[in-house]
Amino acid sequence: MENMPVPELSIILPLFNEAETVHVLIGRVDALVSTLAFSVEVVFVNDGSRDDTEVTLLAAIAGKPGMRLVSLSRNFGHQMAVSCGMAEARGSAVAVLDADLQDPPELISEMHEKWRLGFDVVIARRRSRKGESWFKLFTAKLFYRGLARMTDVPIELDAGDFYLLDRQVVEVLNRCPEHSRFLRGLVAWAGFRRAVVLYDREPRRFGKSNYTLGKMWSLAKDALFGFS
Ligand code: UDP
Ligand code: MG
Repeated sequence: MENMPVPELSIILPLFNEAETVHVLIGRVDALVSTLAFSVEVVFVNDGSRDDTEVTLLAAIAGKPGMRLVSLSRNFGHQMAVSCGMAEARGSAVAVLDADLQDPPELISEMHEKWRLGFDVVIARRRSRKGESWFKLFTAKLFYRGLARMTDVPIELDAGDFYLLDRQVVEVLNRCPEHSRFLRGLVAWAGFRRAVVLYDREPRRFGKSNYTLGKMWSLAKDALFGFS
């Protein structure tokens, strides 16, 4: 691995109990990569899934040198899974998106173009959000607008953990010691030249949200304590 040339782009995909999505996901990512004229590595992070995510992934990526899997020893949560992916990624640019296909992988191509133009942080912002409960939409709107009033850090509204970062930004995040991480906040805090691209968030293809009320609360708490 050390001797391999540095890829231009790393794509990080965190997965917790996403066995049903694996094949469709890999199909979409493969199709995307085949349209890109530069080298790409895909880093799947299995966040202690309790279903067949790991074996399904291992079988699906066998013989695909550009794809690899990092398996965490237990379920650490989405923010930690993405952070581990960032520590593993070697690309000059690093894209992060959800593995459940709510974030369309195809958008990475447009995000990468912005990076080529000189932007270090390219954030995908939701123009619309399909298939979410009114409860989730309402609490998210309220929470992020409340948080914005409490902090000087310019956290992008209506954006999740779907972004493409220059290597310099990833290095800054990798050096942040926080255990309870609110990555969107750290990304905003890090600074750099920032651009936004808009997208329509899809409903989940399979399964259900793994952000339980408890995990949402924990994320909200880390955001509040970290950034107010
Ligand atoms: N995820 C994870 N660890 C967790 C919970 C979720 O890695 O403990 C992954 C999940 O597989 C998905 C992404 O994080 O790829 C977003 O999770 P989810 O779709 O459940 O959240 P939502 O879209 O409802 O906010
Ligand atoms: Mg989701």
